[in-house]
Amino acid sequence: MTLPIIDMPGKRSYPPRQSDFTIKFWQGLGEGIFQTTRCVKCQKLSFPPKPICPHCWSKETVWETLSGKGTLYSKTTVYAGPAVFKEELPYQVGIVDLDENIRIATRVLGDAKLDAPVKMVILKYEDGNLYAAR
Ligand SMILES: [Zn+2]
Repeated sequence: MTLPIIDMPGKRSYPPRQSDFTIKFWQGLGEGIFQTTRCVKCQKLSFPPKPICPHCWSKETVWETLSGKGTLYSKTTVYAGPAVFKEELPYQVGIVDLDENIRIATRVLGDAKLDAPVKMVILKYEDGNLYAAR
């Protein structure tokens, strides 16, 4: 299942650092694929994706595509943010409980309501991709 891709103007205000490991995640977003890693040993998912399981320290993790569906647990509107994001003020950030039972922090778009279903979307900027819930 691929997620909607929304074209965004300009470049990302604060491009995330990419490593040889996480490049797969960021490139996947460009194809509408929202993914993370699952531990082979204890079977738990973690987010963001990691080469080492934070639950049992196993170094065996595999990539798994997520549904992008979840429930909005919490959100807030940022009116006074870090200088690097000043062009985007005000903006919303929140906590989403994904259907796969992992909790993530994310940008929130629109008027998503607490405890209501949300879907992840890909934000495609000139210089790369981000994700958000709406
Ligand atoms: Zn594990």
